[in-house]
Amino acid sequence: MTNKEVEIHLTDKCPHDCVFCSVKKHPFPTPSLNEIKKDISISFKFKKLILSGGEPFLRKDISKIIEFAKVSNKYVTIETNLTLLNEKLLRKIIKAGVNELKISFHSHEKKVYKKITKSNGFDKLLKNFELLKKYKKRIKISTNTVITKYNYKNLNETVSFLAKNYSFLKEIRISYPRFYPIKNCGKYSKKHLVSLNILKKKFKNIINEKKIIIENLPLCIINDKRAKKINWDIWLVKKGKLLRGLEERYFPEKCNKCKKKKECQGLHKYYTLYFDNNFVKPFR
Ligand code: SF4
Repeated sequence: MTNKEVEIHLTDKCPHDCVFCSVKKHPFPTPSLNEIKKDISISFKFKKLILSGGEPFLRKDISKIIEFAKVSNKYVTIETNLTLLNEKLLRKIIKAGVNELKISFHSHEKKVYKKITKSNGFDKLLKNFELLKKYKKRIKISTNTVITKYNYKNLNETVSFLAKNYSFLKEIRISYPRFYPIKNCGKYSKKHLVSLNILKKKFKNIINEKKIIIENLPLCIINDKRAKKINWDIWLVKKGKLLRGLEERYFPEKCNKCKKKKECQGLHKYYTLYFDNNFVKPFR
């Protein structure tokens, strides 16, 4: 079994409509429980399984999916916006054996959160964080904050809020979005995003907090050890087929002269469909 991760999209439905998200732009039929079981079986080589969507908690059979994955000896992570969780469901998925919840937390400010997710779920999100305190010993809990035009100036405040109020968090992730070409959607999310060129001017220091992981950002944007050596080898399994993930990296030519290339995450492979790469500055 390899330590690489494999991801299954359980649904394209979600109560949120995040400005950076591509899921609703390429709808797909909701896979049946049997199809998902087959996909889990196909990915027998992978130790880590990510259940994502859309919103996985929309599925009534979520605990059956987890149970099946646990029989296959997987480490199971659910990526969720947390707003559909309640205590009964939480107990059920813990009993089924889920290992980790990775929670989307795009801002500590209600107004900004709404702008990014187009949802009124902020109060429910905070309420469910309180619920998680009770179960913190039985499940690993981490967060992910995706950088957009609306939250990039206040990222330090967001991660401070998380670190201060929820000491049970094991990882606090800050990630730059990935870019997927979607037929007939053009640059669907560009107006909500911030280019790395602009980000570079604001993104000097992220607070000194060990739990932070910086994802999908090159070192010439933020020269920080928490932005090194991220695992990009995530695969996708869909309709009985194992697909190499879309997370491949891209290094502009200039990077060949950079002495930090080996530790650097580079750019997401479709970054230049959206923005230019003039910001790239090799370390000599
Ligand atoms: S120049 Fe290239 S390899 Fe070097 S830090 Fe920047 S993106 Fe990474």
